[in-house]
Amino acid sequence: MLEVNDLHVTVDGNEILKGLTLTINAGEVHAIMGPNGAGKSTLSAVIAGKDGYEVTQGSITFEGQDVLEMEIEERAQAGLLLGFQYPVEIPGVKNIYLLKSALNAQRAARGEGEMPAPEFMKLVKEKLQFMKMDASFLQRAVNEGFSGGEKKRNEILQMLVLQPKLAMLDEIDSGLDIDAMKVVADGVNSLRAEERAILLVTHYQRLLDYIVPDKVHVLVDGRIVKTGDAELAKALEANGYEGIEESAA
Ligand code: ADP
Ligand code: MG
Ligand code: MG
Repeated sequence: MLEVNDLHVTVDGNEILKGLTLTINAGEVHAIMGPNGAGKSTLSAVIAGKDGYEVTQGSITFEGQDVLEMEIEERAQAGLLLGFQYPVEIPGVKNIYLLKSALNAQRAARGEGEMPAPEFMKLVKEKLQFMKMDASFLQRAVNEGFSGGEKKRNEILQMLVLQPKLAMLDEIDSGLDIDAMKVVADGVNSLRAEERAILLVTHYQRLLDYIVPDKVHVLVDGRIVKTGDAELAKALEANGYEGIEESAA
């Protein structure tokens, strides 16, 4: 589904990703772990097409298409979605409007008409319930006055409504208490499907007790230095990144 090959990315003239290679197949959940500043968020941002990142070498393909040739909206419409990608693009709008316009943009890209309002409301209410969110949430402006936990739930709600082919979630566990984290993890687990892949960026192992990844990659200084299964995340929790950084060097 996604192939990243020898990706080099600079931000403000500094090279952040230094030859990163990664393949994600449909049906898989991959976790990217690594120390602060390793380039984890940069990777998901570049795949999603955020501004400010310059690809100087390498390639990204998604279902055979050259991602680097696609605009940010085209990527989202092709089913490649970073959590909270939209609020960055169109701030200050109501949640319900955001969900509706994003969903209908996706449908339009597939040549489908708008989803009828009753069907849309039914879909959104079902997903809200799943995320244990109150319906009043829909009328609030995206992100305005949201607590950290509400933002994260809303991020997963967006994924549940839009059903992307590749869902990328960056640090969805940060700042969550254990109950909120379980709700968020349940939401992510409900996205698991044969035709979908999930890329989880996380600093801590704790989330991976609830969302068990098929593959874990350790990103250090702009490169993936180690790949394993869920056991690798547990080893990192026990030993930290230091041993890995030494063996990479
Ligand atoms: P991680 O998510 O692994 O903690 P990031 O991808 O956020 O790491 O950042 C990697 C490096 O790139 C850091 O040194 C960070 O300071 C730098 N960086 C990221 N984004 C920007 C930016 N917009 N402007 C300047 N430096 C940036
Ligand atoms: Mg290289
Ligand atoms: Mg980060």
